[in-house]
Amino acid sequence: MAGVEIKLLGTGAGPGVPAFFCECAACREARTNPSAARTRSTALLTMDDKGVLIDASPDLRVQLCREGIQDIHTVFLTHWHHDHFAGLGELEYYLRLKDKGRRLPIYLPPGYTGEFTSTFCRLIDVVDLREWEYGRRYDFGMTSVILLRANHGIETGGVLIEAGKKLAYFPDTSWLPEETLLSLQGIDYLVCDATFYGENWYPDTHMSVAEAIELGKRVGAGQTILTHLSMHYSSPVTVEELNRELAGLDGVLASYDGLKVELY
Ligand SMILES: [Zn+2]
Ligand SMILES: [Zn+2]
Ligand SMILES: [Zn+2]
Repeated sequence: MAGVEIKLLGTGAGPGVPAFFCECAACREARTNPSAARTRSTALLTMDDKGVLIDASPDLRVQLCREGIQDIHTVFLTHWHHDHFAGLGELEYYLRLKDKGRRLPIYLPPGYTGEFTSTFCRLIDVVDLREWEYGRRYDFGMTSVILLRANHGIETGGVLIEAGKKLAYFPDTSWLPEETLLSLQGIDYLVCDATFYGENWYPDTHMSVAEAIELGKRVGAGQTILTHLSMHYSSPVTVEELNRELAGLDGVLASYDGLKVELY
């Protein structure tokens, strides 16, 4: 097995950074320095040239163009929120113009086939809809994808990827359920919701930077990678400030768009 990696195509929360309606220090930084900008959360798992998309943010087209990604084998959606599914509509052109004759497998959260068909009726004849199951192992060669329960108000999964190394991707969650915590003990990489800096406005559905760091310690993660970063709200934080703060901590990293983690 050669070349298994995950790339974070987008690392921002729902509004993105900059948010078009915001003038905070983080948004001002992102306007003057594009490397501090964040598109909405999408990840791409690549193995043996197969690309498995985890979520499809409204910024999907820009993300795929930026990274030179031309083929998508399968899609998993962690949950049915605009900032994670709205980019699916972008796939129609790809499926009709390039990947003709193959229905793209899209794994939806349990119970969301009806939502998909009413939202994306133009895609029905080019996709193969399936609903994922918690705890089931989806194998791609020697790499496994397993959906674990998150806490996010609606049916939401986090993705555990087992290749040579183990990585958990939980872009949207509050504190994890006990059964999920058990599955993540000693994991190599925890990529975790860190939506808020300082005060957590929605503690039932999201985490703060400090809480994500704490969660990484609790499961003994080799490295905790903060994602779904809003950078706004009560205490806006710039990338420069956040990186300075994290530099003093072992095994904690703020994600950025295009960050790659090799798993084999
Ligand atoms: Zn989100
Ligand atoms: Zn802002
Ligand atoms: Zn969400």
